[in-house]
Amino acid sequence: MTLIIDCHGHYTTAPEPHNEWREAQKAAFKNGEKAPAYPDIPDDMIRETIEKNQLRLIKERGADMTIFSPRASAMAPHIGDQSVTVPWARACNDLIARVAGLFPETFAGVCMLPQSQEADMTSSIAELERCVNELGFIGCNLNPDASGGFFKQPPLTDRYWYPFYEKMVELDVPAMIHVSGSCNPSQHATGAYYLAADTIAFMQLLQGNLFADFPTLRFIIPHGGGAVPYHWGRYRGLADMLKQPSLDELLMNNVYFDTCVYHQPGIDLLTDVIETKNILFGSEMVGAVRGIDPTTGFYFDDTKRYVDALDITDEQRHAIYEGNARRVFPRLDAKLKERGL
Ligand SMILES: [Zn+2]
Repeated sequence: MTLIIDCHGHYTTAPEPHNEWREAQKAAFKNGEKAPAYPDIPDDMIRETIEKNQLRLIKERGADMTIFSPRASAMAPHIGDQSVTVPWARACNDLIARVAGLFPETFAGVCMLPQSQEADMTSSIAELERCVNELGFIGCNLNPDASGGFFKQPPLTDRYWYPFYEKMVELDVPAMIHVSGSCNPSQHATGAYYLAADTIAFMQLLQGNLFADFPTLRFIIPHGGGAVPYHWGRYRGLADMLKQPSLDELLMNNVYFDTCVYHQPGIDLLTDVIETKNILFGSEMVGAVRGIDPTTGFYFDDTKRYVDALDITDEQRHAIYEGNARRVFPRLDAKLKERGL
């Protein structure tokens, strides 16, 4: 038996009082006032938003679990300072913990971080610790660009990030490299900014030697790795020109791509080019692209169909659906073992 574990889902359908509080929090910051108290959100309201959306689609599509994090486009670390980002991240992560608590067999929590471009990673380290140790989370989403589309932060190989990586290694949790909403009008959030950031992150890693310092650090680059698999020859050639070791040696013991690519030829290419051990099933559902593909009659983001249709062995499919996720998220593996899975 293979568990179908979706490594990439966001709470895009969070209860309205949560979203309203965010608006109030932003307005209060703008006016120099104190944010109002966070509202009481009953379990039933959370249950309803999940049952009607993510849980329904998980069941319809024949998946088992989703690794679940706050809505990425709403993380918005460029809004306000740490007095805004810290309570916002806590509120979002607490909500994820409640979903995972209400549906423990279906959702495992991944946290967002209270990043800000002017701040160091101290409060992000504290929030990661809280989420893993107190809320039972299994990973985090790390935003490589807290400026919201202007790429003002140092590359992921810079020492700026090292204290955070040390904590990730200590807790043995991976990070999905994930930007948030774009406040740069030249970059559409999900169509341009997300994919650009994925590609930029990979190139930053290629230029450095981060995993020599952190051999067990693990990153998932989402959305199929941005443009990277399609341009694999370019990156292999650049590694050669930059006198770096081969990509296999330099990056591919630590970097993984998900399958959030919304058509069959894209998934075919991903699995042709990238080794099976580096691919995790993901759909980013309910998320970036919500419509139905008129050429197939199925949802664009029903990525399980494309993986099912791949001409690969059963062992490879098992790795993509379950085995790799359990390896990259050891805390998920432990939770599943506790359940006899
Ligand atoms: Zn996402």
